[in-house]
Amino acid sequence: MAFHTTKLHGFRMDEKTAKAILGKMLSFIFVFAKAELKQDFEKDFKVDDTWLMLLEECYEFAEEHGARISTQLSELDLPTGTCPACGQETVDLISEMCALCGHLYKTDEDD
Ligand SMILES: [Zn+2]
Repeated sequence: MAFHTTKLHGFRMDEKTAKAILGKMLSFIFVFAKAELKQDFEKDFKVDDTWLMLLEECYEFAEEHGARISTQLSELDLPTGTCPACGQETVDLISEMCALCGHLYKTDEDD
């Protein structure tokens, strides 16, 4: 059996680009696993600080996943707000909790 080996000469990717791609992939994996495999990886990540660490370490992931959640919330006709903790438009104003980072949102909170 012969396999082709591909050598990527001169292929460079800076850290920022790598993180952006990784962030998008991760977001996709969480959504895909939930929809297609009925696996809630988000829940597993939220057992400890892993989820929050991921949001902090990879802003690209927070942005990508935040956009997905924001779309889901608006499809459900839920009023949304900007989360003071993670900065994404992911606060479900009915439950007053950020659907991305879990931050509790108080409407009477002054910034
Ligand atoms: Zn948040």
